[in-house]
Amino acid sequence: MSALFLDRDGVLNVLRPNDYVKSPDELVMLPGVKEALDICRRRFSHLFIVTNQQGIGKGLMTEADLEAIHRKLLEAVGPVDRIYHCPDLERSHSFRRKPNIGMALQARRDYPDIRLKDSVMVGDSKTDILFGRRAGMTTVLVGCNSTVATDAPHLVDYRFPTLLDFAQNLPKGLQNTNFA
Ligand SMILES: [Mg+2]
Repeated sequence: MSALFLDRDGVLNVLRPNDYVKSPDELVMLPGVKEALDICRRRFSHLFIVTNQQGIGKGLMTEADLEAIHRKLLEAVGPVDRIYHCPDLERSHSFRRKPNIGMALQARRDYPDIRLKDSVMVGDSKTDILFGRRAGMTTVLVGCNSTVATDAPHLVDYRFPTLLDFAQNLPKGLQNTNFA
């Protein structure tokens, strides 16, 4: 079974630079994400969101705030199998926090049928790409905020401008990968 792992901020919703989405009204979805997930739901056995949320660890928001944000997110994009989040601070070097692979291993424990080597990680940062690579997944970089594609091209299997471009290229076998 092949699963799709999705980063949240910068992939599904607009990234807030140097800040966190701390309440539902700060959540702004990116265009095309619902259509993208509708396609992905037909192509993958499972959909997961894996998101670092150290704003909780910093005390800027609560677990209840995050639950409210995720209710609004799921209203916008439709259901996913599970949202995994890591509230731990970056300096904690938590095994659950990307680029460490705790959330991928948790998903495999929760859904024993999935095979990480047949699964795909889509993210907009080097952290996501490292997470996917370390977990043995195919890695897909979206957006243009990360320099990982030029700094460490061996880590990035495919690259698309947006999640919708990724989804629309799935039937073609992910060949159309480069964009300026
Ligand atoms: Mg991100």
